[in-house]
Amino acid sequence: MSTKKVTKIGVLTSGGDAPGMNAAIRAVVRTGLYNDLEVYGIMRGYAGMIENDIIRMESRSVANIIQRGGTILKTARSKEFMEPEGRAIAYENLKQFGIDGLVVIGGDGSFRGAQKFSNEFDIPCIGIPGTIDRDMAGTDYTIGFDTAVNTAVEAIDKIRDTMDAHDRLFIVEVMGRDAGYIALHSGIATGAENILIPETKTDIEDLIRSLCEKEKRKKLVNLVVVAEGGEYGDANKLAEIIKERIPTADTRVCILGHIQRGGSPTCQDRLIASHMGYYAVESLLLGRRNIMVGVLNNKIQYTPFNDTIKEKHQRIGQEWMRIVKILAS
Ligand code: ADP
Repeated sequence: MSTKKVTKIGVLTSGGDAPGMNAAIRAVVRTGLYNDLEVYGIMRGYAGMIENDIIRMESRSVANIIQRGGTILKTARSKEFMEPEGRAIAYENLKQFGIDGLVVIGGDGSFRGAQKFSNEFDIPCIGIPGTIDRDMAGTDYTIGFDTAVNTAVEAIDKIRDTMDAHDRLFIVEVMGRDAGYIALHSGIATGAENILIPETKTDIEDLIRSLCEKEKRKKLVNLVVVAEGGEYGDANKLAEIIKERIPTADTRVCILGHIQRGGSPTCQDRLIASHMGYYAVESLLLGRRNIMVGVLNNKIQYTPFNDTIKEKHQRIGQEWMRIVKILAS
């Protein structure tokens, strides 16, 4: 807790972009202004902080953005901010504007940077989890996940139509370098026969056996959803193995890629972004610092930055993978 009252706050989006970040920016700006704070938008995350790319935000600055994907403040990664010298320049820039509190919308990397910055220069920072991967501890929701997973479901449904028409085996690769949530949720929702995620070891022999067995039963349509960070890497590599082992299968690959990051955020992403943005500003007003605003069991929860790192996020349970097998049999 801090006893100094904040008067001017900065808001930035950092790291990977996620649909719904705009809704969070809007909530931070409007809640700040409602509480008579001056609000500044920092462009391109920590890069803009170092380059002094900082703009005053008014209520109209965030008009008509709640439904837009991307982030009006842009986002970036900044190597300079990893170094003490870079952070010192960033601090001097904030000082010029009198900014005495920060809301950082991003992933756990961005929070690590915020924590260092806050400790070095006594600026309270509050984090809002913005990542399509949903791999953060201290929250059941991260902004962007729901939109990304719905985009994946819509795309996979379309792929299913064409694979069904041709009796094909399709391998669809979704995003998720370290986390399989998009693969798991979109795979279950589209009735995938197999789902491969980074959290669990892939038994390639078991996968081949299951695909062969389905071929024998004349179940010719087979959908395999893989996370990009799966053990067998990208979908093309996996397709090569399957083609070699089951040459009779008409195997195709589709990599969904960046479409999962774009698009108008879903209602759920807009709601949680609005909620978290409001509580982030309230936290600054109450003197909190170095915490992330999250939602656990449908209640707002505050988690120290140190405990939000993705290594600590709830792992996907084996129970889910068992259910996938049963439902696809
Ligand atoms: P995300 O926030 O999505 O996890 P990154 O891990 O790329 O994305 O982090 C975003 C930015 O946060 C980095 O480009 C860097 O400027 C800053 N950052 C990340 N980790 C640290 C760290 N350990 N120390 C200082 N700054 C960091």
